[in-house]
Amino acid sequence: MICCKECLDLLSDYLDGELDPQTSSSLEEHFQDCPPCIAFLNTFKTSTNLCRETIRKVEIPEVVQVKLKEFVTQNARKKG
Ligand SMILES: [Zn+2]
Repeated sequence: MICCKECLDLLSDYLDGELDPQTSSSLEEHFQDCPPCIAFLNTFKTSTNLCRETIRKVEIPEVVQVKLKEFVTQNARKKG
């Protein structure tokens, strides 16, 4: 049986699906008996998803990238 600390250490690998099946299942076993770790898991999941969503939103669309390059090139020409 793994302890809470180990559980938290493994959490990010667990969510990324990078743990071996045995470790995953001991982690899941721990979650069943440990409400604080479940709460942490949920918070972690939510914030990770939020992060990913934000990154996706901030990503610059290709059209904007092209316009931006044009703008920079034109400005550079004017100045140079
Ligand atoms: Zn725990």
